[in-house]
This record gives sequence, C-alpha cells and structure tokens, in this order.
Amino acid sequence: MAESGSRFPLGTWPTPLEQAPRLAAAIGLQPGDLWIKRDDLGGLGGGGNKVRKLEWTIGDALAKGADTVVTTGAPQSNHARLTAAAAARAGLDAVLVLAGRPGRSGSGNLALAGLFGASVVWAGDVSHEDLAEAAREVADDLSGRGAVPALIPFGGSSALSARGYVECGNELLRQAPDLHEVVVAVGSGATMAGLVAALGDERVFGVDCGALDDPAPAVAELAAPNATAAVEAGRLRIRREQVGAGYGELTEPVAQALYIAGRTEGIALDPIYTGRALAGLIAAVADGSVVPGRKTIFLHSGGLPGLFGHPAAVAHAEAGLRAAPPLA
Ligand SMILES: *Cc1c(COP(=O)(O)O)cnc(C)c1O
Repeated sequence: MAESGSRFPLGTWPTPLEQAPRLAAAIGLQPGDLWIKRDDLGGLGGGGNKVRKLEWTIGDALAKGADTVVTTGAPQSNHARLTAAAAARAGLDAVLVLAGRPGRSGSGNLALAGLFGASVVWAGDVSHEDLAEAAREVADDLSGRGAVPALIPFGGSSALSARGYVECGNELLRQAPDLHEVVVAVGSGATMAGLVAALGDERVFGVDCGALDDPAPAVAELAAPNATAAVEAGRLRIRREQVGAGYGELTEPVAQALYIAGRTEGIALDPIYTGRALAGLIAAVADGSVVPGRKTIFLHSGGLPGLFGHPAAVAHAEAGLRAAPPLA
C-alpha cells in the first residue's frame, strides 16, 4: 500500500443491490440481467461515490492531526460537497478551491456545501495544474496562520482512497458472486481503480465522463498499489465516446438515458456522471459489447445535486412534464 491511514466511518455499508428489470428490458437486456448498486444511498451529505473514498482521506487527515481539509473541484463538484459534509462529521474545517467564478453556476452542490459550513475560494478559469497549485497556496496560507491543513486531491482520488472501491468490489462479490461486469462512470479514476483491483480488468467497464484528458493511465496508477495482479492501462475497458463536447455538456444520448432510468425504474441519474454511464451501457448493448444473459451491475455513484446545478439538465427534465418522449 502506498500510504498509511485508518478508515473514518462515514457511510452505511453494504449499500443495496437492486434488480432493474424494466430498465434492462428497455435497453435490450433480459429482465434478470441488470442490477443497480445503490452507492447513491451512502448516507452522508446527500450520498455518492465520494463517501467511500473520503472514509480513507478523512481518516488519513485525522491521523496526521489536521484541523482543516482543502480540496479542489468544478463548481458543481460532488466531491467538494461531500468533502464539506465529511469534514463537518469529523469536526474539521473545509476549504473548497473551485474552478470558475462566483455566480456562474446553479445552486445544486454549492448550496449543500454552504449548509455543511465549507468556505469557497474561487480560482478563476484555470487548468488542472493551476487549480492544484491554487489549493497548495491556500494550504500554505492556512499553515502560516497556525492551522494544520490536509490536501485532498482532485476528485478525492488517490491510491489510498481507491481502497474504498476495493471494499465496494468485495461487497459486490458477496452480493452477486456470479456478476459478469460492473459499469461505472469514470472521472478522476479511483472508483474504477478500486473496482479493477478487486474484480480484475475484465469485469469492470468504465465510461469516461471527460474530467481528465486520458483517464486510463490515471486509473492504472491508482489501481496498481491495491491490486494483486499487474494493472496495465492498455487492458482497461474504458469507453470514451460519451464525453461529447466536454465534461459539462448535456448530450442527446445522456438526455435520453436520464429519461429512460426515470421512466422505467423511478431512478434519477445526473447529467455529468451516471447519465453518461448509462448512455455508455446503452451504446455497449447496441454494439454487442455487453450481451444479454449475463449479470451486469450498474454502479449508481450518486450526483443528484449536480442535476439541480445544471440548467440544461433541469430544463430537459421539466420538458418531460409537457411531452413524454417515447422510450427509444
Ligand atoms: C466523482 C464522480 C464519479 C467518478 O468517480 P471517480 O472516482 O472520480 O472516477 C462518478 N459519479 C459521480 C456521481 C461522481 O460524483
């Protein structure tokens, strides 16, 4: 293991694994094929996949005697919102260093971060590297004023935090020993990385959401210290076509995926991550890379607050009230 640290409990485990027969049939699978792993029900702060990762990064911060956590993200970062909630639970201060400027993003995650007592530093329109640098400057400034800050990396992803998804993979093996594959949205990479470490590269199917230029090397690097077998970036199964025009964009396949999940199972997906993951699964069934007759697990990684911070997605959802387009 690359880093030390002990786990600080934040969630309610195991999360449920629920069958989704109507969604399965709507996308061309058999009704018994598709199951949803409800990691959106993680308990803390509105839930989502960042809770499992934060158990390790917050545990590490506490072990190092930190009194403040500093992290980065997009204005509608689920990770930043959940870092704020986790910090509150652990009795730490949270400073969120966000790309962009105030007033340009809908409320969603930001409103929740406000409830959880975080402070926000706006870094302007900066690159990934400059955002990380801004966070280091904020941490240095805090140290200079006598605080003890701990930096939590972009998306909460580190080799340490990937352990949260090694645990999720093991949980899935207990809940569904016959699972054929797990479909997961890929952002900063530790979620897929932990699953790959637990389940092997064949059984994890990632759908890139456009947070990184190329997620495969990042996923491999985060998985390797947690895996018993070698992990090669080139062997990872990651679909990239759902990124569309970019991370924040609501694409037509994703817009349709949001309606399909909502209308078959009453499940809300988000426009950035889980909507892309389902759109990727739909495309994979259509082109034969996911086939009926095998147990496919869709990881619901959360993100619902982000829907309310995404004006195009809200307009799309509300349009459903006037005319419900037929399922494809
Ligand atoms: C961050 C996020 C992901 C991606 O997880 P990574 O570990 O960053 O790859 C997926 N779904 C949701 C809802 C997220 O917020």
